[in-house]
Amino acid sequence: MIDVVEPATAEVMASVPEAGVEETDAAVAAAKAAFPAWRAIAPGDRAKLLHHLADALVEKQEELAVLEARNAGKPIGDARGEMGMVADTFRYYAGAVERLLGDTIPVAGGMDFTFREPLGVVALIVPWNFPLTIASWKMGPALAAGNTLVLKPAELTPLTALRFAEIAREAGIPEGVVNVVAGPGRVCGQRLVEHPDVAKVAFTGSTEVGRRIAEGAAATIKRVTLELGGKSANVVFADADLAAAARAAPLAVFGNAGQDCCARSRILVERGAMDDFMAEMERAVREVRVGDPLDESTQMGPLISADQLETVSSFVPADAPVAIRGDAPDGPGFWFPPTVLAPVSNDDRAAREEIFGPVAAVIPFDSEDDAIRLANDTIYGLSGSIWTQNGARALRVARAIETGVISINSNTSVRVATPFGGFKQSGVGRELGPHALEHYTEVKNVYYATEG
Ligand code: NAD
Repeated sequence: MIDVVEPATAEVMASVPEAGVEETDAAVAAAKAAFPAWRAIAPGDRAKLLHHLADALVEKQEELAVLEARNAGKPIGDARGEMGMVADTFRYYAGAVERLLGDTIPVAGGMDFTFREPLGVVALIVPWNFPLTIASWKMGPALAAGNTLVLKPAELTPLTALRFAEIAREAGIPEGVVNVVAGPGRVCGQRLVEHPDVAKVAFTGSTEVGRRIAEGAAATIKRVTLELGGKSANVVFADADLAAAARAAPLAVFGNAGQDCCARSRILVERGAMDDFMAEMERAVREVRVGDPLDESTQMGPLISADQLETVSSFVPADAPVAIRGDAPDGPGFWFPPTVLAPVSNDDRAAREEIFGPVAAVIPFDSEDDAIRLANDTIYGLSGSIWTQNGARALRVARAIETGVISINSNTSVRVATPFGGFKQSGVGRELGPHALEHYTEVKNVYYATEG
């Protein structure tokens, strides 16, 4: 059994059967058996099934939000928003089923056209920070394109995935199309990567495990998409609306207790604006409400586990340059206060490694070129922000930063309708938007001779 721990209390909230290799093989076999019928469903009918599923998810939004808030330790308001996004993701891809268009290509002697064929059985391996949300980014396009799937949630957060499988069945998704195996990554995850009947692995998690998955998938030339770590820069120029930038900066790192691959954990501030920025940010950090995830006013919950608490703590040793520290509850649960380190060099460990906790590093810079150099001086390239009122500069810097997603005068990263994914060691491929469908289909070219 897997004992599922509630991070806010450190107590077991549920026990679920732990899957192993046998259960993983059975799930792949079920998905393989269901594939021919699922891909053959008329596009309009498959779209309707995905709309039914989206409707069912809207109906179950509160139940799923409470489950996710408790299991992942995230504020209930955030969890509600995430479950809304899950439903919206299925609705968006329901609309894609009938728009999977091919090309007609002018050639000699006949006609040439392309189809977007499903891959077959796809394996989806997801982390614990946005458990069902990240799973839906993969399930939506996978199902719309006619694939069947095996979803492996993280060991720490299997509950919403298991509940999702029941909701999908009740909504009319046929048996075997959606399968969930809750078990260890080194057992179930690895088996999925090696399994000869799995055509593709879509993975979200750490860069370290992603590297291992890419290596394992090479043996059978599986398709792989990877959404990995980040160390994103929030670049604040002195000509920005400084108050707006400083007020927005804390939650861009401390949201989800910093356990967000898009966390703007390196805050690059133009040197002349440092004092004003820090003063305004200090007020904002002190206002961040850290506490019980089920309290409606909570903005930040605990970390996911005792291990994570230990890792995050190691980035704030006794001699760390702590400039601002917020509050966190005492007592049971894996709590860590919002913490801002300043000034930090981009060579310091806190600026180089993904902390995945509520710790921000403020790094001063001297010019536009310096800001770009520092922003790009990382192995990652997932997200980021630019704050300036100079439109030409905003666009110049947006083009120069090596990152998959960037916002100007905003710290948002993810929308259902727009592509999301990383440059460099932050990943391969894109999720969401129209682009995700490319990663769940193969292009087939058909030539039909018409002359003689
Ligand atoms: P992790 O890499 O430890 O685990 C992710 C998943 O992989 C889990 O389901 C785990 O069981 C499985 N896994 C572990 N070892 C495996 C193996 N050998 N073979 C197959 N599967 C295996 O990551 P985590 O600690 O759950 O999540 C945190 C990481 O995820 C952070 O680095 C974060 O940046 C990243 N992340 C990235 C994105 C993104 O979209 N880029 C989103 C969220 C999280």
